Amino acid sequence: MLTQAPKGTQDVLPQDSYRWQRVEDAMRRVAALAGYREIRTPMFEHTELFQRGVGDTTDVVQKEMYTFNDKGNRSITLKPEGTAGAVRAFIEHHLFADPLPSKMFYVSCPVFRYEKPQSGRFRQFHQHGVEVFGAKDASVDAEVIALAMDVLRECGIDGLRLSINSIGCPACRAAYHEKLRAYLEPKLPSLCETCRERFQRNPMRILDCKEDAAKLTDAPAMLDNLCDDCRGHFEALKRYLDALGIAYEIDPRIVRGLDYYTKTVFEIITDTENGPLTVCGGGRYDGLVQELGGPETCGIGWGMGVERMLMVQDARGVAPEQPALYDAFVCTLGDAARLEGVKLVRELRRAGVKADLDHAARSLKAQFKYAGKMNARYVVTIAEDELARGVVKLRDMAESAEREIPRDAAVAELTK
Ligand code: ATP
Ligand code: MG
Repeated sequence: MLTQAPKGTQDVLPQDSYRWQRVEDAMRRVAALAGYREIRTPMFEHTELFQRGVGDTTDVVQKEMYTFNDKGNRSITLKPEGTAGAVRAFIEHHLFADPLPSKMFYVSCPVFRYEKPQSGRFRQFHQHGVEVFGAKDASVDAEVIALAMDVLRECGIDGLRLSINSIGCPACRAAYHEKLRAYLEPKLPSLCETCRERFQRNPMRILDCKEDAAKLTDAPAMLDNLCDDCRGHFEALKRYLDALGIAYEIDPRIVRGLDYYTKTVFEIITDTENGPLTVCGGGRYDGLVQELGGPETCGIGWGMGVERMLMVQDARGVAPEQPALYDAFVCTLGDAARLEGVKLVRELRRAGVKADLDHAARSLKAQFKYAGKMNARYVVTIAEDELARGVVKLRDMAESAEREIPRDAAVAELTK
């Protein structure tokens, strides 16, 4: 127990963290180029935020949240997704009074869901995400989709499937719900208990049920029942995606697992040996800011699973290689040389050269061996003799040729 991380969690070890940093850098680069700024919200919120924001007929809220009472007897929940917290901050800090749209992103945000752990499914996982408030044109729907594609492409991942759909707005959904209930009613006895419970309050959610969805493939689709406004928005989105050369398929069965979506919803999917895996999911949430107590403000965003991005990189063999830990490793022999070595290493580091030396009192031979193992590009050697003559030996490990240079020229030489 003591030496085992809790089920569904993962360590990112020092030798692997560069993988995370690369996908984080990609997110930051792509976001900055499009005028998105980073938001960081707390890891936990009042439980009510998610009940209201995510929706209390969703699996996330009904089955997957990490909820507990704190010592002040407040109900607290570890965030199960990123949007509700961003919306809460948008309202609390009156960001709606700033020039809109307000564009923000987050990087490797920890997310908690009590799910059955399996490949690509954890209890603590991490999401990159974007949120845009106050832009209603479908061009922004296309923009956020393009950003997701660009982040993935920067990580060496392209050719994923993009599925889009529209799930309408409260106006057209009410009539659709009636149609859907009429279709579902005779099937109710064969549906799971959760679906039966959702029949009155949120029948569309039934179409997202992992158990029952397969039995309901001929259900009426929201997409065929959109009002003129929603239809026009969806047609415009398609035109923008076409103009951007972004291929998509229309999947009228995408509902998404969170209640706040309106109009555009989308998923970016990869096919694995265990079936399709969603890497990114998102959509428009035009009613959410108001639902949570803010002024009427439309919004759109997505969340991208970082662990799943890394899985796809692995599956496709596009994972970046581990960078060398050191540019230069300094090997010394004797106490006086060692003092000089300590000084030289600090000078090198200050000049931007990744450098280190032995801290384990190893023999010179063992130091060379260690430098080799660490893939140091250069090895600098200082023994008593070099010290006395004011020089160091410099070996380029790629050429394995060694030459002597003045001690005082060492930093300049290695920063060339
Ligand atoms: P799924 O259908 O796989 O359960 P979801 O619809 O619940 O996904 P979202 O709520 O849209 O997922 O979250 C956005 C992204 O976060 C997903 O596309 C996925 O990449 C990632 N994700 C969701 N749940 C997990 C999890 N338990 N472990 C790892 N990544 C996850
Ligand atoms: Mg899920």
